[in-house]
Amino acid sequence: MSRTDQLGNFTPQDAPDYGDVLQCMRCGFCLPTCPTFALTGRERSSPRGRVALARAVAEQQLEFTDAVKHEAFFCLDCRACTTACPSGVRAGEVMEICRSQAHQQYPLKHVGKSFREFILQRMLPNPALLEKSMLPARLYQRLGIPTVATVKWTSDQMLRRLLPQGHVPEHVDPSGRIAIAEMPVDPGWIGHRIRDIEQATGGRLAYLTRLGEGLLPDSDTVYQEGDLLHLALQRDDLATAERILDAPPVAP
Ligand code: SF4
Ligand code: SF4
Repeated sequence: MSRTDQLGNFTPQDAPDYGDVLQCMRCGFCLPTCPTFALTGRERSSPRGRVALARAVAEQQLEFTDAVKHEAFFCLDCRACTTACPSGVRAGEVMEICRSQAHQQYPLKHVGKSFREFILQRMLPNPALLEKSMLPARLYQRLGIPTVATVKWTSDQMLRRLLPQGHVPEHVDPSGRIAIAEMPVDPGWIGHRIRDIEQATGGRLAYLTRLGEGLLPDSDTVYQEGDLLHLALQRDDLATAERILDAPPVAP
């Protein structure tokens, strides 16, 4: 089948084939096969929903927003939907291309980029280096230290640097209005009090993760390097808060 180009709000390099996207007839046969739809029950986290998102971006009804980026990385690329689809739509492939688009449209900052290049180009192809990187985990294991939280914190830190920047929604209240999200924070905020962050964003810090341990902040708690912030906000304010925290604090 020949390629059909309609870029819309995609960048020209590595854009999804518009013809592929148009093949979806919204029958829903793919829905029961998709693990992320089974987990969330959210249409946009289903193959049909993801293809609809890509189509909306191609038809300029939607910018390549955070929601599109999030769905691209949330897709497991398991391709279970492909075999169930009577039209031959390859939602996993479309999302793979959207991940490439996310890297183009939300480029990593310098530190994250260097870290990713180090992991992908130097550490993974080098078994000796990979072996050495596992030493701390083995040491924890030998000492019998309960490391579940620490390992999660470590993997969160790694993922933060491997994936494009962006908040990670963790909880939404039953009305759908309030969300708790893990927010990326510019290093310029290190040393600032949590209340400064709350005042700047209009949110409330639900808790923070410091070296793998959950911590309930008080008004004098100071944001430290490596802390993960879990901020409670009105959902509509998430993007604005992300923009504020993604830049150094504005001097009073
Ligand atoms: S992706 Fe395929 S199975 Fe799913 S709704 Fe579209 S046409 Fe139907
Ligand atoms: S490839 Fe993505 S969209 Fe398709 S079933 Fe797997 S998780 Fe769902």
